[in-house]
Amino acid sequence: MGNFFVEVLPLIGTHRGLIYHGIPGLQVGSMVKIQVRNRVCLGVVKALEVRPTEACCSYQTVLDVVFDKPVLTSDLILLAEWLVRYYGCTLSTAFGAILPAMVRQEKTYLPTYGLRLTRCVAIFRENSIRQRAIYRWLQQQGDTTYHRVVKQFPKSSQVIQALIGKGYVEKFPMEPTYPSVPDSISTPFHLTDEQMRVVHSICPDFSKKIHSTHVLLGVTGSGKTEIYHQLILYARQLGLQTLYLVPEIALTEQALKKISLRLCLNEVKVEVWHSRLGERERLRIWENALNGTIDVVMGTRSALFLPLGRLGLVIVDEEHEPAYKQSDTPRYHGRDLAIHRALLNNSVCVLGSATPSLETWFNVQNGQYTLHRIVHRPYNRCLPKVYTVNMSFEKPNFEGAFMLSTLLREKLSDRLDRKEQSLLFLNRRGYAPFLQCNACGKYATCPCCSAHLVYHRSQQVAKCHACERTLPMPKMCPHCGGFFEKSRGLGTQRIEACLQRLYPRARVLRLDADTVSSNPDWYEQMLSQRYDILIGTQMIAKGLDFPNVTLVGVIQADGQLNVNDFRAAERTFQLLVQVGGRAGRADQMGEVVVQTFSPDAPCVQLGVAGNVEDFLNQECRLRDRYGYPPHRHIMRQILRSHSESVLAYACQQWDSFLQKNLQSEHIAILGPAVPPLGKVNNYYRQHVLFFSRDVLKDLPCLMQLQRQFRWPINVATLWDVDPVDFV
Ligand SMILES: [Zn+2]
Ligand SMILES: [Zn+2]
Repeated sequence: MGNFFVEVLPLIGTHRGLIYHGIPGLQVGSMVKIQVRNRVCLGVVKALEVRPTEACCSYQTVLDVVFDKPVLTSDLILLAEWLVRYYGCTLSTAFGAILPAMVRQEKTYLPTYGLRLTRCVAIFRENSIRQRAIYRWLQQQGDTTYHRVVKQFPKSSQVIQALIGKGYVEKFPMEPTYPSVPDSISTPFHLTDEQMRVVHSICPDFSKKIHSTHVLLGVTGSGKTEIYHQLILYARQLGLQTLYLVPEIALTEQALKKISLRLCLNEVKVEVWHSRLGERERLRIWENALNGTIDVVMGTRSALFLPLGRLGLVIVDEEHEPAYKQSDTPRYHGRDLAIHRALLNNSVCVLGSATPSLETWFNVQNGQYTLHRIVHRPYNRCLPKVYTVNMSFEKPNFEGAFMLSTLLREKLSDRLDRKEQSLLFLNRRGYAPFLQCNACGKYATCPCCSAHLVYHRSQQVAKCHACERTLPMPKMCPHCGGFFEKSRGLGTQRIEACLQRLYPRARVLRLDADTVSSNPDWYEQMLSQRYDILIGTQMIAKGLDFPNVTLVGVIQADGQLNVNDFRAAERTFQLLVQVGGRAGRADQMGEVVVQTFSPDAPCVQLGVAGNVEDFLNQECRLRDRYGYPPHRHIMRQILRSHSESVLAYACQQWDSFLQKNLQSEHIAILGPAVPPLGKVNNYYRQHVLFFSRDVLKDLPCLMQLQRQFRWPINVATLWDVDPVDFV
């Protein structure tokens, strides 16, 4: 038994640390085995030499140290605790997000090693074809990493083991290598005066070692990337590491390739991280992070949890994107966590966007963040010319629906003649978002959800976008026996069908969640002009460069305005500004056609005019009037049950319990109420919205009350703090 005490955070469903007698070899961040009640579980050492509060004999001893080296940096331990406090999750959920699965399964993580041939003369039997193939390949390649061998010969780990066992091949520890740079991109880039000014005003903060948050407000195509690039190089000169976050994986793979190659030119060691990486690859990058051999990690939100010990710069690109929010527990917001991690490290945080979120703007206004405006596009490229079309004056032009206005059709033909590319944007996949009975007017719904079924014509099926079930097309209306109309409303597939009829010779590419995974090379194909028209969902509105696109059409600018969400105007505005920025980025002048039924809505008008600050200020005042975010936080409690009546009863009881017991007059309550999706995957749902100015203070009160309340056994609750949607 050791004569000192340590605090351990157990990887179980609890919210706080426990005290144990220490054993030799423990460090802050060590993974250990401990006993909690009668179960042995894993834990992470939070602090050494803590002072016990009870008699010494009432504490147990740490059972074992799992790995020699700590698995977490000290800032990540604090971040885990913050996740637990702010998002109301358990320690096990927090560490589930922070530690790679293989580490949590206690699989020893291997140092990055290489493979090479030994001097042994290799003799192979007739049937050892794979052993011979790998051996020959190694002969040609020379020393190489284990990962490259496995990449070249998938599922070959046992064959490699056999070769090592025979003594023909040996392992050796290897420094990680980074790709070499093709000549085509090795041209140095010169910053404009404006970009230079921004870099110079941020740089002094690195040496001060004080946390600061900077907002880059730059029109689309203003070269924010160039500023990031300079800041990364500067941080590296000081020996500091950079975390560079992007909202979505489509962007990670395409755009990041370009940026990371350019950084490699300056011998910066870059790793790209996203959720599609395999477990082994994850472990390799995680390990390199822990060993301190990485300079920059670029990736999606989960890159936030990599153990970087010398973190000096955190970049959040397209910070307004709702994709930064994690949709299952822990339901953290990548941007907010990034700012918090920068704070824990006394690092510089840079948020970039052409359309900052209201949350960010609010903090600029109250002086928490420093604003940097970039108003010019490099080489004085001009912003596109925007036309607004009022669809109320148009005639339906395809299957009785309003699809392409006369103006958009004219401009499309014009582009096809000039062999330039066009981009059409519609935020709904599928063919028709509704299947409506032609006799009784009822919509076809999913049997397990309260969501409408969406008709997907290419596969002749109906899909539920709430639970992702695919169903055969319903033959007749269950209410009256009538037929379902397949052409109500718009979806990307339907626009595709319309284009095929109008322009039979145009090469059209549709890009949405249904097609993107089957066509990973779409971006290169688009760049090499394999297509004339690209139709897509929000995926294509995100920071991608299309130099040959000179026309952008927004099919339904007000598609989101009818959604019952206080952020609808903000989203519509962002969409218009962002999509518009995709046109005319090279030396050609771009044009944008915005189709809308509500041309007078302020968010449409300001979006078309690209008037960002006026919109933000107006919207901020409006939100203040109703006490909506960013002025207050929303803590959303979701309650669900298989039984509709039990849920209704529980909600009613919970409501009166809250009325009686909730002391804080700072918390305002909305609900319980049925959200737009009252049933998902056979679960009935209700939600309660709690408005608060201080989550860290108010959430624990609410969770305390939740524990005191006697919930029926078949009702589950979960929390979503700062939700980005309310479905
Ligand atoms: Zn019917
Ligand atoms: Zn469903």
